Amino acid sequence: MRLLPFVIAALLTPLAAQAQNQAAQKPRWTLVIHGGAGTIERDRITPEQEAGVRAGLEAALAAGSKVLDAGGDALDAVQAAVQVLEDDPHFNAGRGAVFTWDGRNELDAAIMDGRTRAAGAVAGVTTTRHPVAAARAVMEKSQHVMLSGAGADEFARSQGLEQVPNSWFATPTRREQLDKLKASEKLGWYDVDRKYGTVGAVAMDANGHVAAATSTGGLTGKRWGRIGDAPIIGAGTYADDRACAVSATGAGEYFIREGVAHEICARVRFKDDSLKAAADTVMAETLALGGAGGVIVTGPSGEMAWSFNTPGMYRGRASSNGERIVAFYGDDK
Ligand code: ASP
Repeated sequence: MRLLPFVIAALLTPLAAQAQNQAAQKPRWTLVIHGGAGTIERDRITPEQEAGVRAGLEAALAAGSKVLDAGGDALDAVQAAVQVLEDDPHFNAGRGAVFTWDGRNELDAAIMDGRTRAAGAVAGVTTTRHPVAAARAVMEKSQHVMLSGAGADEFARSQGLEQVPNSWFATPTRREQLDKLKASEKLGWYDVDRKYGTVGAVAMDANGHVAAATSTGGLTGKRWGRIGDAPIIGAGTYADDRACAVSATGAGEYFIREGVAHEICARVRFKDDSLKAAADTVMAETLALGGAGGVIVTGPSGEMAWSFNTPGMYRGRASSNGERIVAFYGDDK
């Protein structure tokens, strides 16, 4: 009888060791996404809109988490998350993108691999269903970093990426926003009603590699082939294993001038700033130029941060420790 505790211990020890082993083998990862920053305030959003955006962000987190949980690459995870949001009409990317002045949809996207700093981007595509997939093809299947317009669509088609008529991206809500903008007397830049909704994702995978992706329709009423920060490597998108991965959303012209995504990574790399400190500093500098918006960031040890100088930012994060958060407003945690 006195031997019983020893017998139980002897039986349990291998089980405990096995559990510990499994925990050690479980991939460690982080995923952060955004669905645009802007005048996102409780009294300006209907419950249906809120539910739709929430469901979209949750679906994107689920798609990216699935890749990372299976030990997949950060690069595949950010692409998977962004593609879900490109198909969701609640966001200004892919289907549901804002209209140009001429009543079309012109889409920009970029992706970057922190392992090698390989990057790909497309600007002004009009028929490629998933612009982020086109950006990835530019990165992996061409000698270039950025392709634009009809040529970018032609390249995407040659790579077997799904093509759709431009009308596939159009939604009545976005059409209304364009009509309202055209009818309004003050055609100000970055009018609050030119609602943002750009999407992006950053991730750290089980091997400690980071990646970033961003996709957008740009600004309502944009013309003359205007291109924002999202597809510009170093402005709206950047990833470097030596520092961090960043995806931005906001008033693109200012983000380009600040070089937001690269600037954050540079502060982390050379000044040893925390991700949060770097993101806050760079967002403050961008605001000082006149640029409203926000960023999401993750680093090679899985730390994460977000920062925005607008009332809200659609955002979410998930990690291997089981955390899954979706937030909208400035005072959400
Ligand atoms: N940054 C995007 C652009 O300027 C817009 C946005 O994020 O809402 O094209």
